[in-house]
Amino acid sequence: MNRPIRAMMIGAHPDDCDIRCGGLALKYARAGHQVKFLSLVDGRGGHHEMSPEDVAARRLKETQAVARLAGIEYDVWDIFDCELTADIETRKRLVRAIREFNPDIIFCCRPNDYHPDHRNASLLVQDASYLLIVPNFCPDAPAMKKLPVILHFYDGFKNPPFEAEVAVDIDDVIEDKYRMLACHESQVFEWLPYTLGTLDTVPEDPDARFEWLRQPRLPEDGQIDESILQSKQIGVVSEYREAIPAIKYRKKLIERYGERGKSIRFAEVFSVSEYGAPLTEEAERELLPF
Ligand SMILES: [Zn+2]
Repeated sequence: MNRPIRAMMIGAHPDDCDIRCGGLALKYARAGHQVKFLSLVDGRGGHHEMSPEDVAARRLKETQAVARLAGIEYDVWDIFDCELTADIETRKRLVRAIREFNPDIIFCCRPNDYHPDHRNASLLVQDASYLLIVPNFCPDAPAMKKLPVILHFYDGFKNPPFEAEVAVDIDDVIEDKYRMLACHESQVFEWLPYTLGTLDTVPEDPDARFEWLRQPRLPEDGQIDESILQSKQIGVVSEYREAIPAIKYRKKLIERYGERGKSIRFAEVFSVSEYGAPLTEEAERELLPF
């Protein structure tokens, strides 16, 4: 490694970065690189029993458990859940935060998404991207010398469909990715199953609960049963769900890893934002050395 890479993952909610990019974050951190997750809102909206204030406080604690586990920084802003807007004040706040961390590479979601916070988070990063190098915008925070590369997380939305340009093997960190996800207790064991109508299937025991999170587990041969894929059984972060990018973008994995790409079970995949620095072959070798 010539120098540590600075990677910044920007999500709307406290768990977006973990779900879409947690494996890659673990790989960066393990290799000695600097990773920061930023959640633009506080997550207070997502619970069926707790008060908004209590949910926000709990979400913050959960993110700090992730930070300790993964060896990364995890910032959560105080903007209310479900109320993120791409306004000028938030744009300035984001430009300052990005300039301060000074990332080589940024990850965020695409603007095509069901959740207004996700859409606006993406828009805010787009709005900030060029301004990062404009010295007279937010002159109190020194402008960056060059644009970072900006990649978009995988999603399954169809208008327009996601096209993976980069696929990274995360088989070596999948256990810890699940540990990261399990830190978000109020989400993965409470709120998300509540929204899916599966709350009564969540075990009490921590080990049983951790196993439940991964189910249905992916068979060793990596082949998934399409009928299960269509059902609510696959939850939000089951191994079935986690396996989809590797199955969908197998060609990309083979391009990157050769023969080995055929048997990779779990991958995280990304597309390139045309508003950041171009992801040249050289930049890809340098910034995604996995
Ligand atoms: Zn979210």
